[in-house]
Amino acid sequence: MSTITTDVVVVGLGGFGSAALWRLAERGVSVAGIDRFDIGHNLGSSHGATRLFRVACMEHPGLAAVARRSLDLWTGLGERYGESYVEQTGCLSVGSPASLPVRGTTAAAEAAGVEVYHLSHDELVRRYPQYAGLDEQTVAVLDPEGGLCFPERNVRAQVRAAAEAGAQVYPGTRVTSVELVDGGVRVTTPTAVFEAAQAVVTAGAWNAKLLPGLPLRPRRTPLYWFAPKEGASQPFDLAAFPSFIYELADGRGLWGHGSGDGFHIKIGLSDHGHDDTDPDELDRYIHPRRDVDRLAEAVAAAFPQVDPVPVKAIPCMITNSPDEQFLVGRPGGDPRLVMAGGDSGHGFKHVAGVGELLAQIAVGEETYSDVGFMDPDRFA
Ligand SMILES: Cc1cc2nc3c(=O)[nH]c(=O)nc-3n(C[C@H](O)[C@H](O)[C@H](O)COP(=O)(O)OP(=O)(O)OC[C@H]3O[C@@H](n4cnc5c(N)ncnc54)[C@H](O)[C@@H]3O)c2cc1C
Repeated sequence: MSTITTDVVVVGLGGFGSAALWRLAERGVSVAGIDRFDIGHNLGSSHGATRLFRVACMEHPGLAAVARRSLDLWTGLGERYGESYVEQTGCLSVGSPASLPVRGTTAAAEAAGVEVYHLSHDELVRRYPQYAGLDEQTVAVLDPEGGLCFPERNVRAQVRAAAEAGAQVYPGTRVTSVELVDGGVRVTTPTAVFEAAQAVVTAGAWNAKLLPGLPLRPRRTPLYWFAPKEGASQPFDLAAFPSFIYELADGRGLWGHGSGDGFHIKIGLSDHGHDDTDPDELDRYIHPRRDVDRLAEAVAAAFPQVDPVPVKAIPCMITNSPDEQFLVGRPGGDPRLVMAGGDSGHGFKHVAGVGELLAQIAVGEETYSDVGFMDPDRFA
């Protein structure tokens, strides 16, 4: 078994980890990154072609700065590699004025100083006829900086940029333990031991297996794609039907976006009876009754011109924290450890910005924005 010595070792190269690897390598830090699968794989939480991008985040006003940092970093990377990592078509928060998307997005935008536009029911229906014929209470908040980002593409680009900046990358290598030892960490894999001053642990749904005691709940959360009904008069391409979060009049929450280059209309149900799961034993079968029926019924109610039977579905995982906010920082204040996780289903838009925070924490720089609300020890 070989021993590899480095300053920092990043465990898990999905969303958060690939970004941390890149931001550390760009700082000239000697860093190695390890993932149990291939880079940009479809067995964790960062796959399925697209994720919603929002700047006015109802989950916390402090996330606006993180999303904007992602946007800046991905825009720079896009210019370098000639690819698009964020597509800004705008994102709609739809519902009654008292609904969480409308109320929460409005409050977050005000607190964070993000410019958003309020659409009355008539304006909403005029600009986006897909919302016609529904509850007249329904209004919307448009976040013009919102849109989509692209999990596999962005992860691969972040790892490519990290490697070009000098990071060592070890795909297909499972970490079996992360031990805190005198003066640093020992990270063990079946083929090599990594000795480093610090570990950045970004293992997604597997975080609590490597750092036991974290209050994280991985949940099985499939992704679904749809097609318009034959003869549909309303357009459902991304430009006409941009990304949205939508609370229906009965309280059910939908999210999704229109079709684009290489992907269909995507729609998900926020509380889709998600089951807790062991990520090593995730049920990868899609069950027509249990998985699809409730969502199909909500799709039929919300968008009558979309065929409610999905054309494609694949399993994925979110990992909830108790307050559905991320865990970013040093668990127990330990100077040998930095972590990010607990994505709670809204993390991908923030991964580049969180990667920057992880790198700043690891090297001892002042962070570009407040991380207190993401403190991993806040539940202790
Ligand atoms: C259905 C669904 C819809 C979503 N919608 C949105 C959205 O619209 N907008 C948004 O911003 N976010 C969304 N999210 C959330 C977003 O996808 C996640 O926040 C993000 O992908 C989490 O990234 P991660 O780095 O924590 O996990 P991952 O990307 O899964 O990374 C963890 C990595 O660790 C590796 N790993 C684990 N254990 C080990 C080990 N022992 N050794 C080595 N490597 C290991 C894994 O292989 C994996 O590559 C959604 C998630 C789901 C499931």
